[in-house]
Amino acid sequence: MENTESRVFDLASIAANIESVRREIDSLAKGREVKLLAVTKTVPVDVINHAIDHLGITAIGENRVQELLAKYDSLHTPPGRDKLEIHLIGSLQTNKVKYIIDKVDMIESVDSVKLAAEIDRQAKKHGRIMDILIEINIGRETQKGGILPEALPEFLEEIRDFSNLRLRGLMTIAPKCDNSSDYLKYFEETFAILLDISTKNVHNIDRSFFDVISMGMSGSYREALQCGSNEIRLGSTLFGARN
Ligand SMILES: *Cc1c(COP(=O)(O)O)cnc(C)c1O
Repeated sequence: MENTESRVFDLASIAANIESVRREIDSLAKGREVKLLAVTKTVPVDVINHAIDHLGITAIGENRVQELLAKYDSLHTPPGRDKLEIHLIGSLQTNKVKYIIDKVDMIESVDSVKLAAEIDRQAKKHGRIMDILIEINIGRETQKGGILPEALPEFLEEIRDFSNLRLRGLMTIAPKCDNSSDYLKYFEETFAILLDISTKNVHNIDRSFFDVISMGMSGSYREALQCGSNEIRLGSTLFGARN
């Protein structure tokens, strides 16, 4: 876990940050509904609960199983909701799926048949259907997880019989760009892939549910919103820089 000890969380700033992101969503997404996923890795549970109780946060993303499990029992339910929505967004080891299968609402980082098979198996065991996103390695970076765009048709074919998975869409982490306008081409390409899949008749995709495109982080959410993103994953923009 990253060190959180010396980090100061200013609740008033967090409130202001969330407000200002919501305004940007309104102006950049042109009326599209966009999910603001608060990425809460390294954020203490008290701060997360404040954001849930008072600042309108209804969905969080964690990228490490250990950290999610440590926080899980203490997390609040958003006012007026049945439950807090929790997404697993980081690379997930197959042997850890069993710890989170009954705790998360979506797994965004599916990038291997082996992982998909294990999620399917555990979901069956728990009598549930798990929502998943396929992570696309849009920058074709060798050190990063995700399916290469050209490998996607075969991947879709390989996971098509996993009946306890519901494929909801795509997730991508763009390569770090020095010039923020360089993000546009990665997000445009990811959006085009989503459109391509949803217009083809891909077996086992229920098109009425294939509607999520999770792209945009603190350094890139404005560009992602311009390119059709309907879920942005923000950590440091909301909670301040991690150490
Ligand atoms: C940490 C993380 C984020 C948020 O990163 P920020 O730059 O702090 O907004 C988003 N997505 C994934 C997969 C992450 O691991």
